[in-house]
Amino acid sequence: MPPISFEFFPPKTDEQRTQLDRTAKALKPLAPDYVSVTFGAGGSTLSYTSETVQHLHREHGLDVAPHLSCVGGTRAELAALLDTYRSAGYRRIVALRGDLPSGMATPGDFRYAVELVRFIREHSGDHFHIEVAAYPEMHPQADDALVDLRHFKAKVDAGANGAITQYFYNADAYFRFVEDVQRLGVNVPIVPGIMPISNYTQLRRFSEGCGAEIPRWIAKRMQAHGDDAESVRSLGAEVVAQLCRRLLDGGAPGLHFYTLNRAKTTQAVLEQL
Ligand code: FAD
Repeated sequence: MPPISFEFFPPKTDEQRTQLDRTAKALKPLAPDYVSVTFGAGGSTLSYTSETVQHLHREHGLDVAPHLSCVGGTRAELAALLDTYRSAGYRRIVALRGDLPSGMATPGDFRYAVELVRFIREHSGDHFHIEVAAYPEMHPQADDALVDLRHFKAKVDAGANGAITQYFYNADAYFRFVEDVQRLGVNVPIVPGIMPISNYTQLRRFSEGCGAEIPRWIAKRMQAHGDDAESVRSLGAEVVAQLCRRLLDGGAPGLHFYTLNRAKTTQAVLEQL
């Protein structure tokens, strides 16, 4: 099995904390290379993210990569956070631009993730292994696919060691993206982000926002199962496991699962691999 990693979001309530503990316990035996914890742009989850990172490391003995999104933040704030993570011994960071929550107007000191990558290298040298985001189906705000590819390359040129993709259900989009950026001279591992399917209505809403396409045949099959949650989960696991198999057979260097802090759907996919 190639390296796998799991993504969590920082819980804010006691119930969510208990849920994350259950999930971390259930997924740990699958021996992830690391787990990552998301970060709300503009620092909206700043304390939750660092608490969650510490908790997963101390209580569950997991290697943790904090996400760091720069939009809305200042150089001083981000430098302080980098110093905290460095002194706590973390070695990997997922560096992002982020999307400001609606109503939050402060753009901060950085406009794009490439500037954050540059800043991390200036401030912390080679201490951190930096992952950045990649979009095989294009970033939703990009209106020129080739320019978007060049913006991705700029993050690698600035010092990123690897990338994790937005989720997708079309393996060809991933393979094409990897080929295209390799042709531009990019040579870092690009790990597919995998979104297991449990609730189709939620997935459809979410996908509209982040620009991930749900192929018509998957949408139609899911709709046919309607409210039958068990059938949706079972079909979802089969479809996503098939996608993972194709990606791995085609040379994907690992898999990064968007767990949404739930273990079952990710486990169901991995059981089939
Ligand atoms: P960028 O790489 O900066 O790209 C954003 C857009 O700007 C693209 O359209 C790009 O083409 C364009 N662009 C880049 N450079 C330039 C330039 N110099 N001039 C003009 N245009 C440019 N969001 C969070 O808030 N918190 C998280 O924890 C988080 N985790 C994520 C994890 C993964 C694996 C992924 C794939 C996404 C994650 N996101 C997260 C979402 C991400 O922040 C959004 O997709 C955001 O809109 C873009 O972030 P980015 O780092 O890809 O930005």
